[in-house]
Amino acid sequence: MAQQNDVLKKITPRNPADLALANLMPRRPTMGPDVPVVLWRVLRLVSLHDILGDETPAIAYLMGKRLGAMLGAKTIEELHEQLTRMKIGRLDLSVNTPDAVHLAIGECLTCDGITPPIGRAICQLEAGVIAGALETIYPGRKAAGEETKCIGGLGDDVCLIECRII
Ligand SMILES: [Zn+2]
Repeated sequence: MAQQNDVLKKITPRNPADLALANLMPRRPTMGPDVPVVLWRVLRLVSLHDILGDETPAIAYLMGKRLGAMLGAKTIEELHEQLTRMKIGRLDLSVNTPDAVHLAIGECLTCDGITPPIGRAICQLEAGVIAGALETIYPGRKAAGEETKCIGGLGDDVCLIECRII
């Protein structure tokens, strides 16, 4: 017990908000790095809406923006590769100019398979991720993302994230 306390004393408390991706890498030799999609959906959709209500889309968007900035992508291609590796979905970049980026997400992590559709777009977190990443790709500019099609929200074939870069 005394030994355990000695170990605890050496830990300097930190703010979880300051953790970088490198600090968050899982060490789960037998369980592996992935979790079931349904776990994400319960937290992201059921719990967040239960706690935050109508504030959820705005908060989820901001959560996504933070993640997008943390990725540190330098190019759209790099972002595409990172999001594919994170299994956000099957990505299809249809517009890629310095003023606008449109990214379709098939097999969306958050919503594909939700039936019947909810009746409104629900993947604001994904929109935030793209917008946040675009602000690191285009330093000094602002990006605003909006989900205009949504599989589990509106019954569309893909979730379409449309970003303007200002
Ligand atoms: Zn969606």
